[in-house]
Amino acid sequence: MRLVMKFGGTAVDSPDKVRHVAQLVKSHSKGNKIVCVVSAVRGMTDGLLAIADSVRRGDKQSIEEFVKKSSKIHLDIVGGAISERKLREEAEAAVKKIMKELEEVLGGIVLLGEVTPKSLDYLLSFGERLSTPIVSFALRDIGIKSDHLTGKEAGMLTDSNFGEARPLMDTTKLRVSHKLEPMLRDSIVPVITGFVGADQYGNTTTIGRGGSDYTATIIAASVGADEVWLWSDVDGLMTADPKIVTEAQVLKEVSFAEAMEMALFGAKYMHPRALEPVIETKIPIRIRNTFNLDHAGTVITQSPSKESQKIVKSVSAIRHTALIDVSGGGMVGAPGTAAKIFDTLAKNRVNIMMISQSPSESSISMVVRKTDLDKATTTLELNLLGKVIKQVNVNDDVAVIAVVGSGMRGIKGVAAKVFGAVAKRGVNVIMITQGSSELNLAFVVNDRDCDQAVRALHEEFGLGKSK
Ligand code: ASP
Ligand code: MG
Repeated sequence: MRLVMKFGGTAVDSPDKVRHVAQLVKSHSKGNKIVCVVSAVRGMTDGLLAIADSVRRGDKQSIEEFVKKSSKIHLDIVGGAISERKLREEAEAAVKKIMKELEEVLGGIVLLGEVTPKSLDYLLSFGERLSTPIVSFALRDIGIKSDHLTGKEAGMLTDSNFGEARPLMDTTKLRVSHKLEPMLRDSIVPVITGFVGADQYGNTTTIGRGGSDYTATIIAASVGADEVWLWSDVDGLMTADPKIVTEAQVLKEVSFAEAMEMALFGAKYMHPRALEPVIETKIPIRIRNTFNLDHAGTVITQSPSKESQKIVKSVSAIRHTALIDVSGGGMVGAPGTAAKIFDTLAKNRVNIMMISQSPSESSISMVVRKTDLDKATTTLELNLLGKVIKQVNVNDDVAVIAVVGSGMRGIKGVAAKVFGAVAKRGVNVIMITQGSSELNLAFVVNDRDCDQAVRALHEEFGLGKSK
């Protein structure tokens, strides 16, 4: 089989874990062709974001500390993970070289006194640029032929939307397969930076937080992989957040469509766009726990087996959201009102998570992330209040609860069951949406009712007992 294996930052943050990852790759390498995609060592991307912030504020001193600390973290991993002296020295040299470049980049940013989205992406790429040579040398240390590549070297071409760059799939596929095929033919395991690509001018780009999953599926689609394995520190996708519901179970099988809803609705194991490249090519994804190899994890496929088809598969909650209700008599029967509202918000980069409008047309409700709330209300007030809309009301402490499962399609009484269950617990439902795909039913409650609602639904649909 051809396998793309992605390792998250928690899987490579100590010498033992890097050895473990290398052994894991080795144990699957007989008879398989493997490509590895690796995230930055845990905490590194956040650290780089924080240092960018300090540097922006002219804090020169923090650079030295940061460089020292990150050097130590990575060199310690190299020291403990790679036994053979020559390889260890090579890996050390590689890490030191990248660290030096990082120091120079930070110095340059201090001089300029600003961090542009472009320079930030360049800076963020260092996390993955440091972790990949370590994993690659650790593989060589145990007798596996390997080489490390940046996203750019591997052929990951994106647009120039720094921070959230979009891969240009057709060219990427060509370039990646061109680059990787000869390596795979020679049984060399490529170890590629997750999260990082380059635009057509060669500028380094990143594809959004948690983007390594996405890199893995793009690579998989490019080399025609049989499966993508996302190795992390959880057993798989779950019926609910185990912090809210203690009986939450790992789901054995989930369809692409369901996983898409779960990703969007906060099962934060995956980059929301990570599924796009594999849906087309129908390449299954396995989510597995690096630290619990006996657990089979969750498989995401085009069509899961009959036994695993349930009416409802998971109940998720997204917190830190706010509800905005815009209203006004002038909105009734006035074509283009919704377009104006959404267009204005979109131009100001406010992402709307949920929308509903009643047939009376006199109000539209929207859910946004709390972090976008201020921008959203300011934008609405500045541009539309008193013109298209009369009033803007806000509830800034709500949670979105989403019930997901393809088995809900065409089944009567699901909504009654959902709302009956939450009503029994005295939870008030503020807003409701259901896409006509009937894959998910989502509603808004006050944040303080969130846990209650999730538990009620988990119980109502018997998810605790399921496998
Ligand atoms: N290192 C990046 C992040 O922390 C990408 C990833 O981990 O997938 O967002
Ligand atoms: Mg990560």
